[in-house]
Amino acid sequence: MSTEHSEKKRPLTPEDRPTITPEGEMPQKKFYRSRAHCNPLSHNDHFDYPFHPDKMDWSTHYPEFKNKGSDGLRPEVLDIGCGFGGLTIALATLLPTKTILGLEIRAKVTEYVRLRIVASRKEHPGQYQNCSVLRSNTMKYMPNLFQKSSLEKIFFCFPDPHFKKKNHPRRIVSERLLSEYAYFLKPKIGRLYTITDVEELHNWHVKHCTNHPLFRALTKEEMDNDPCVKAMYSETEEGKKVERAGSNKYMAVFERIDFNPSQMSLTAENFFTDEKFDANEK
Ligand code: SAM
Repeated sequence: MSTEHSEKKRPLTPEDRPTITPEGEMPQKKFYRSRAHCNPLSHNDHFDYPFHPDKMDWSTHYPEFKNKGSDGLRPEVLDIGCGFGGLTIALATLLPTKTILGLEIRAKVTEYVRLRIVASRKEHPGQYQNCSVLRSNTMKYMPNLFQKSSLEKIFFCFPDPHFKKKNHPRRIVSERLLSEYAYFLKPKIGRLYTITDVEELHNWHVKHCTNHPLFRALTKEEMDNDPCVKAMYSETEEGKKVERAGSNKYMAVFERIDFNPSQMSLTAENFFTDEKFDANEK
């Protein structure tokens, strides 16, 4: 019996295959498929990020976009977990004066969206200059990328549901992360959009956003008047799949309200004396 160690070759997975789309050509999704779910809490390596958002150079993302706001060139609308980029692309034409950024944790999927944007720009000269994509784990790196009160909209379309209770900390909408999202959104203007086909996850979104002191739910009328709600309903790849399967889609939209400390019943000053939180309670 040979004692020589020979490493067993494992079969190639879609992740291993080289991609084959020349720059400027529309990529084919079948070459960019990737494992559907990943654990965002253990997926921390190999991301490029600046140590401060001031250091982030967005000009390479929007090289020909002329409509710089007074704050300079930086993203104003985020499609978080953009997947194959259907909504990111649709928002570019729906909001032509805004800068849109898709954020995606999976490398191959991000590359697909990048190539899709390059090809769309080539096919439609002058269009899609206001959208881009970045690979990132948004549950970790948003404070390195975005300034306070710099964002107008954040979309969470069909986020991974992480069904098991022990995996709920992996959910991308949570009490802690909502405070981050509130920090990045412009008060009174900023909106946070959610859509899912999982009713339990929708209830989770509604519960956490409603309980958060810096968000309020939009009324039905406000939602009907927002064209982005319709886009979120119909333009994402997951949304189209759900449509074909004949399943329900549940949506909720929240506004980043203005913070007025005098309206808060519980503050740093009364925290230890407020009877609801009696510090001397045995
Ligand atoms: N929004 C797309 C749509 O509706 O078609 C894709 C939805 S897909 C079910 C969820 C996406 O979120 C996946 O592409 C996944 O890789 C991405 N994702 C999950 N966690 C993420 C994270 N922490 N940061 C960025 N993207 C993430």
